[in-house]
Amino acid sequence: MSGETRKENLSVTLAKNKQVGSLLKILELMFFPSFCKLCGKLLDREGEKVVCTSCLKELKSRRSSYCLCCGSFFETYGDPHLCYKCMKKKPVFSLHRSCSVYSGKLKDLILLFKYQKFKVLAKELAAYMYRSLVQDEALWWDLEAVIPVPLHKARKRQRGFNQSYELARYIADFKGLELLDKALIKKFNVPPQTSLSAEERKINNRGAYEVVDPWKIKGKILLLVDDVYTTGATVSECSAVLLKSGAREVRVVTLAQAS
Ligand SMILES: [Zn+2]
Ligand SMILES: [Zn+2]
Repeated sequence: MSGETRKENLSVTLAKNKQVGSLLKILELMFFPSFCKLCGKLLDREGEKVVCTSCLKELKSRRSSYCLCCGSFFETYGDPHLCYKCMKKKPVFSLHRSCSVYSGKLKDLILLFKYQKFKVLAKELAAYMYRSLVQDEALWWDLEAVIPVPLHKARKRQRGFNQSYELARYIADFKGLELLDKALIKKFNVPPQTSLSAEERKINNRGAYEVVDPWKIKGKILLLVDDVYTTGATVSECSAVLLKSGAREVRVVTLAQAS
């Protein structure tokens, strides 16, 4: 969007200041106008940060059928059922649910959140996660605590925050559940997984996680939170460590599923 167009948009917004709401917002728009990082529109509504309300409204939950166990999306509609892989061998976690596929606006938002360090997007993304999955009784039934997939301290220092923790803390808050931060840690920093195959990811993650406070998880049904599910190697390794350290059951939620 050109500077002129932005200025025009700003004057239109200021002229319609009844819609803007507060004096503070008007001052912010006059002196520090900000624009949606995805579509370039002026952020002129109360509470809008980084991306506009219209872009957020484009986040839709996947409606097709999925595997009851690993949560993989099927191309077809109908009742959820077990996929071929889970029929042969069940994953270490009891179930996984994802909101949608890793593409379009959802992918753009996750990239902004994770790599451009817009931590403020955590609340909107967690709210989307909650809206998408709240009806799934199998996920929430008897759940006792929420636990994020940990980041290694060096990676956390680099990014400034752990994206899974930011999502997990809102999910715990929305649902009134205990948040278990620091019970599970990442002991060593493994190379980025993006270019690795499923088997390489499994090996890459082996032994990377450790439970430091087993009494915090003992006998509990946990909800493990991560941002993107690709092969499931990370959440499988975390679940195995949690179960070995005494957790009763581990269920997993992610924002998006990459294929
Ligand atoms: Zn936008
Ligand atoms: Zn499955």
